[in-house]
Amino acid sequence: MPDSYDVVIIGSGQAGNPLATALADAGRSVALIEEYLLGGSCINYGCSPVKTMLASAERAHQVRTAAGFGVQANAPRVDMAAVVVRKNEVIGAMREGVRSNLTQERPGITVLAGRAVFTGPHSVRVAMESGPEKELTAPLIFINTGTRAAIPEVEGLAETGFLTTTELLDLTELPEHLLILGGGYIGLEFGQMYRRFGSRVTIIESGNQILEHEDEDVCTALQELLEAEGVEFVVGAEAYRTTKGAGGQITVTARTRSGERRLSGTHLLIATGRTPNSDKLNLAAAGVRVDEKGYIKVNSRLQTNVRGVYALGDVHGGPSSPISATTTTALSAMRCWGQIALGQAAPPALHRLHRSAAGPHWLIGGAGAGTADRLPRGRHAGFYHWAGPRNGPSGGLFQGLGRCERPDNWGRHPVR
Ligand SMILES: Cc1cc2nc3c(=O)[nH]c(=O)nc-3n(C[C@H](O)[C@H](O)[C@H](O)COP(=O)(O)OP(=O)(O)OC[C@H]3O[C@@H](n4cnc5c(N)ncnc54)[C@H](O)[C@@H]3O)c2cc1C
Repeated sequence: MPDSYDVVIIGSGQAGNPLATALADAGRSVALIEEYLLGGSCINYGCSPVKTMLASAERAHQVRTAAGFGVQANAPRVDMAAVVVRKNEVIGAMREGVRSNLTQERPGITVLAGRAVFTGPHSVRVAMESGPEKELTAPLIFINTGTRAAIPEVEGLAETGFLTTTELLDLTELPEHLLILGGGYIGLEFGQMYRRFGSRVTIIESGNQILEHEDEDVCTALQELLEAEGVEFVVGAEAYRTTKGAGGQITVTARTRSGERRLSGTHLLIATGRTPNSDKLNLAAAGVRVDEKGYIKVNSRLQTNVRGVYALGDVHGGPSSPISATTTTALSAMRCWGQIALGQAAPPALHRLHRSAAGPHWLIGGAGAGTADRLPRGRHAGFYHWAGPRNGPSGGLFQGLGRCERPDNWGRHPVR
């Protein structure tokens, strides 16, 4: 006999956890299934560990650049093992907070450690981490299974070996020369961080600019800022082969407009995007539709095409900036809670206005349209642009578009 609940949530991420607690508080019985770590990617191998390690990198950077501010200090020596231990302590405490919130403070929530697959539109099977499989049914099922690193098709990659951000966050040695494939938010964030730890860093980007969705002038300001710290960029270079030399050196061969380039380093980070964890859910058994990239299709209320089945967070795609993702994800969950638990009419999910906000040490905040966006019925009331040195060697840029006819057609894009 299957165990029946009011609600089943698959995945314990930014969306699943607040939704589970809100529904339990509203008197619903909730089964929350997690196959790996409670708290999902943000707490365990995304935002929080990255920001924690960035804080260590920032300390090293401040010491290294102190002389420019009139403070004499010896060159820093970074102990990566200690950096990783500190990071693990911080995220361990956060994970414990999630665990106690879900398991000790709310009897209405049953947390199951295992992998869920659909067996029908309103039923799932859980391969438990320990013990026999469980069958569950519920009239409401929320899919909150997130994403994983997308690995590009590059010849030799599997044999050469590579790191994803998850593995790099646990590396206790400092890479001598880190090659990063991908000049998106995550590649840049890790690039700056490891440069500040003391690695040589080369970022290889296939597009014509870093951060393909940002305005060109914003990207130029940011690239200059990172280059001033010693990060090297090879833009417009499409990697197609990797090889490993006898000494362990990794070489990436890329096509560029000016011919082939070979770039060698000691470690290779793949940061070329994310892919949704929808492929191992047996969605066909439920009849849930996905798009051509595997993202679950939802309407503005996060409903899939199957009645009673919702998709929350990164697994349904949405805003392109990973850095704005956590906020958007949690908001989505709260909206569903409003809709379902209280029977309220909730506003549609937030996608339009919020574009991006990234990085503590290089910061891009964006809202609404950028200079590159079309403003079909828009009218600029004003435009201003500022660039200048701040905080020593760092540059800065602030730009704003004035209010336009349509409220979603104005933008501000500070980079500092
Ligand atoms: C390196 C990195 C840095 C980031 N930095 C930031 C940042 O600074 N700011 C920000 O806002 N966002 C950041 N993000 C993005 C942010 O982490 C995600 O947008 C957010 O965590 C997504 O939440 P989610 O609820 O959709 O899924 P997740 O938090 O990914 O949770 C999904 C969960 O589902 C589980 N799961 C998957 N399949 C199954 C299954 N079949 N059965 C059971 N469980 C399953 C997974 O194990 C996982 O725990 C970053 C991401 C990465 C990778």
